[in-house]
Amino acid sequence: MGLVELVLPNYCLLCNRQIKYYELLCSACLNDLSSGPIVLHESDILFTAYFYGRYDSKLRDLILLYKNSHHWRLNRVLASFLVKTMNTYPSDAQLITWVPSSLASLEERGFDTMALIAKSVSKMTGIVAKKTLESLSKSNKRGMTLEERRNSVKNSFSAISRIYKDIVLIDDVYTTGSTVKECARVLKDNGARSITVYCIARA
Ligand SMILES: [Zn+2]
Repeated sequence: MGLVELVLPNYCLLCNRQIKYYELLCSACLNDLSSGPIVLHESDILFTAYFYGRYDSKLRDLILLYKNSHHWRLNRVLASFLVKTMNTYPSDAQLITWVPSSLASLEERGFDTMALIAKSVSKMTGIVAKKTLESLSKSNKRGMTLEERRNSVKNSFSAISRIYKDIVLIDDVYTTGSTVKECARVLKDNGARSITVYCIARA
């Protein structure tokens, strides 16, 4: 342990083990998280979706820390998981876009969680990231039943402009897929040629 660590002790966000001052997670946690991408993928008429891992244990804790505990610097770690998934299951996309936060989530968290990750993914891959969707939803999905979630996403996104490209759509957690499906439908209706979805976790 060097002097900096004595003066400025820093701890792994997931397990509290002491780490270097510039790190966010310890090597043991990073190792636990490095098992993705999972082979499981899902096809829809509108898109194919690929996932880095299951929404459980440390991956789940990490996503929740990022979204709810002001640890926005974790965006780079989460982006690296998406890039790994994109390298394993490549697409011809020329544009990266994301599922935008609802107004309620924006107000609560102060930032668009997937926008930050999309910018990091763009830096790591060289593919342009652009906001193409706007959330029209004022409610946040927490506490809703699956049925309520499905209904709440209908017409809850609109396109900012028409885009005639092959698109990568990214999101954090894929549960019923209803949010991603709705976003893909709006993108398709607005000119998207093809859509490949990459999600950090499959619930
Ligand atoms: Zn740790």
